[in-house]
Amino acid sequence: MSAEIIDGKKIAQTMRAQLKDRINQLEDITPGLAVILIGDNQASKTYVSMKQKACEDLGIYSKLVKLPDTVKESELLDIIQELNEDQLIHGILVQLPLPAHISETSVIEAIYPSKDVDGFHPINIGRLQAGGEAFYPCTPNGIMKMLEFQEIDPAGKHAVVVGRSNIVGKPMGQLLLGKSATVTYCHSKTADLKTHTAQADILIAAAGIRNLITADHIKSGAVVIDVGMNRDEEGKLCGDVDYDQCRLKASAITPVPGGVGPMTITMLLFNTVESAERFSR
Ligand code: ADP
Repeated sequence: MSAEIIDGKKIAQTMRAQLKDRINQLEDITPGLAVILIGDNQASKTYVSMKQKACEDLGIYSKLVKLPDTVKESELLDIIQELNEDQLIHGILVQLPLPAHISETSVIEAIYPSKDVDGFHPINIGRLQAGGEAFYPCTPNGIMKMLEFQEIDPAGKHAVVVGRSNIVGKPMGQLLLGKSATVTYCHSKTADLKTHTAQADILIAAAGIRNLITADHIKSGAVVIDVGMNRDEEGKLCGDVDYDQCRLKASAITPVPGGVGPMTITMLLFNTVESAERFSR
């Protein structure tokens, strides 16, 4: 068997076109996203400029707030509060990681949950679990959209999530549970990873370890979603899954790059548009 390749780029394009229509239907407002970038981290700068470009392409107003890494926590919190009250802004994102002297928790909790388009505020995390109107974290929500596009229904399936980070693994499992999958979480302390992953109908690899998942780890016909963003010896982007091997055994698989990656920013745009729609209502 050779797996169907899940084309994240194409799905992202389709979704962005749908979002453009929704933006055009908003008569009285333009969705606005504020991005706060602190310091000089090259990866953060790259992510932020990708997010800004994606906003521009779609007609979302984007406001970049650049701060030096010497900024005081209290100054940052004041800026967040101004953006909370700013009528032109529907989403606020603080690019992580933060300098060591600033508390990530304080910053995340300072953003109004109604503008927390990253879905990291405890209110949004709670609502993801308990139900109610919430923003879901972009990477796992993008994966749910991919499954939907591929017409893969998680109901009754055994989903195994490798990784338990707050940003990916944990919310991923919750979203799959919400769609009636039977969910197993694996993590760095899991004994005998293979025993678990080999039972997965849907396997989500989000550990950040190159080639952690080999063909031995998967069941024949499994759906394999690779969240990994690692670099090989030559600096080439690669995932957590041994793609060349697993693709011969899986029924569907995401490549890296071109799989989960393009969906993450798309879901940020999605959340920003949703937020603007809620404000306009
Ligand atoms: P991400 O943001 O992509 O989720 P993190 O680095 O924050 O990445 O988290 C990595 C996750 O992967 C952690 O939850 C950790 O427990 C899990 N993990 C790390 N190594 C292994 C391993 N060998 N087997 C299974 N899970 C692992």
